[in-house]
Amino acid sequence: MKEEVREAAYAKLNLTLDVAEKRSDGYHEMLMVMQTVSLSDAIELKKTGEAGIRATCNFRYVPTDRRNLAVRAAELFCAKQGIQNQGIRIRMEKKIPVGAGMAGGSADAAAVLRGMNRLFGTDMSRKELEALAEEIGSDVAFCIAGGTSLAKGRGEILEDLDPMPDCHIVICKPGFSISTPELFRKLDQVNLRRHPDTAGMLEAIASGDLRECAMRMYNVFEEVPDRRMRTVAEIKSTMRDFGALGAVMTGTGSAVFGVWQDRDAAENCAEELSREYRFCVVSRPTERLNIG
Ligand code: ATP
Repeated sequence: MKEEVREAAYAKLNLTLDVAEKRSDGYHEMLMVMQTVSLSDAIELKKTGEAGIRATCNFRYVPTDRRNLAVRAAELFCAKQGIQNQGIRIRMEKKIPVGAGMAGGSADAAAVLRGMNRLFGTDMSRKELEALAEEIGSDVAFCIAGGTSLAKGRGEILEDLDPMPDCHIVICKPGFSISTPELFRKLDQVNLRRHPDTAGMLEAIASGDLRECAMRMYNVFEEVPDRRMRTVAEIKSTMRDFGALGAVMTGTGSAVFGVWQDRDAAENCAEELSREYRFCVVSRPTERLNIG
């Protein structure tokens, strides 16, 4: 049996994000095309002599107790598998910005579930891991295998799609974060004038046409009246000036991304944006992981 495993926790982007009616249980019905990218946190799991789960993280402001989704994932895994008297140390080397709409915490939790499955040789299937993931949070199930998916419900009902066409993706996060509950509250007060063309996006992905995909990227949260959306619009506008085929905010923000066929053009844009914004990277789409 293994003593130590490493997993990459890939960040998520929303190519489209649509919100339908509020359900009777208070949750919103979502329709989203999600994509994982090469920007990732590094997760290391190690068996220790002492009982209990201990976590460390290079971002000092991220809690390392039960508020951390990675810790919750490890606890849940142990409870489900009846693992007792086995200490685990989780090391998180984060690169995914926090509060960016990139599912950083969910990606870490999913990586812990995949890693624990290997560490203990428990042979859980992708479906079993996704079912466990759902108990932690709505984006965690998608992060188990990642790749390109259509997500419905609260984000936990997943349909595998073909991989999105390869491209260069500039991701830029302004200094502020946006609270998800706050943005949903504001969304309830607006009459959405536009919705993403999700069916068109699915066709564009199936035909492998990057230009058509990029044209259809849209997030209804950008319509919410909030002065921070002005910064989002400015970043998008810079991306378009530098030749992005499309640009959009991911999730509830505040990160914004644009896509390019041409790597040099993407890098030029990233260089320009990094003069003003601290977090700016060039990334690539990643394909679905093969699990069980
Ligand atoms: P989403 O796209 O799912 O809305 P996000 O990118 O906006 O996520 P996260 O970066 O996942 O947000 O983190 C949001 C909150 O979750 C923060 O307040 C943070 O303290 C907490 N959190 C819990 N676990 C983690 C983790 N492993 N990494 C980062 N943040 C975490």
